[in-house]
Amino acid sequence: MRFDSLVMPDQVDDSGKEFLIYRGDLECNIAPGNKQHKLKYHLQKALSEGCQYVATFGGPHSNHIAAFVARCQTLGVMPLIVVRGETWAELTPTLRTAVAAGANLFPCGRQDYRLGLASEMKQIVDAYYSDVYWVPEGGAGALGVLGCLDWARVISQDQQAEGAHFCVASGTAVTASGFAACGIDSLSVFSALKGVSNLAEDIQLSCQQAGLQVAAKLTTFDECLHGGFGRMSKELLVFLQTLYRLNPNILLDPVYTSKMVYQVYQMEKKGLWPHKRTLFVHTGGLQGWLGMKTDQQPYGDPVRFSC
Ligand SMILES: *Cc1c(COP(=O)(O)O)cnc(C)c1O
Repeated sequence: MRFDSLVMPDQVDDSGKEFLIYRGDLECNIAPGNKQHKLKYHLQKALSEGCQYVATFGGPHSNHIAAFVARCQTLGVMPLIVVRGETWAELTPTLRTAVAAGANLFPCGRQDYRLGLASEMKQIVDAYYSDVYWVPEGGAGALGVLGCLDWARVISQDQQAEGAHFCVASGTAVTASGFAACGIDSLSVFSALKGVSNLAEDIQLSCQQAGLQVAAKLTTFDECLHGGFGRMSKELLVFLQTLYRLNPNILLDPVYTSKMVYQVYQMEKKGLWPHKRTLFVHTGGLQGWLGMKTDQQPYGDPVRFSC
């Protein structure tokens, strides 16, 4: 398993602080990162029920869609995808890859999209295809948590992770719940969303629904900065460029891991980060750079992140 040390900007050698990163982004060349783990038990269930079609929901640039399509292709089931937003003049790179891999797309207005499994679009899809197994957006739910629990166990039981304080970025809190329950001592969770009501409560609830308990001492950072989900600020961009110069083999994603690492850096600089040995979990998502504007690319042309 690959763990790298991460050099932080202005880090002083005698600080006694150590920053590590578990390279979930390098786990496999199709669909690396956390999404395949969230999907694992969902797709197993779809196969065991003999479903020919597997459907899900996702945004036009989402890592979930990228991973979903890649896994479906490997398993030989046809992916059906309800995509957030009305029709488009041009498909995003993520959706182009999906179509090339044999996915059928269903553009869905935001209002109906928000209803998820209760949406009208789901009924429409079900009326056209029989035998559809539905995966909730992002691979959420108890099965998603259990897949992440397996992942968290494997990472945390590696010798290199010993004694580390874990850091995980969060959207739906499903991934973080797997880590919270895996038996590690302490965990910080960083929300990528704006205005999350209570991340700690969400983690409690997700664990409970999966029949698990939060075992780690948990610290949550509920407020995402830099303009909210999927937005990039100038200062974050500058930080990523500096970090990249110091760690030319480590690239972070725009939505989740970059904001987490930056937040820890800021706290460390102010003397507010107490942990001696910090382990960031890289949850992948580099293909997300394809959805960012050309003046928001710290790593140059994002075409190399195409799936
Ligand atoms: C989806 C995603 C997350 C968040 O996972 P949740 O289980 O929704 O909290 C974190 N990092 C990356 C790169 C992601 O794509």
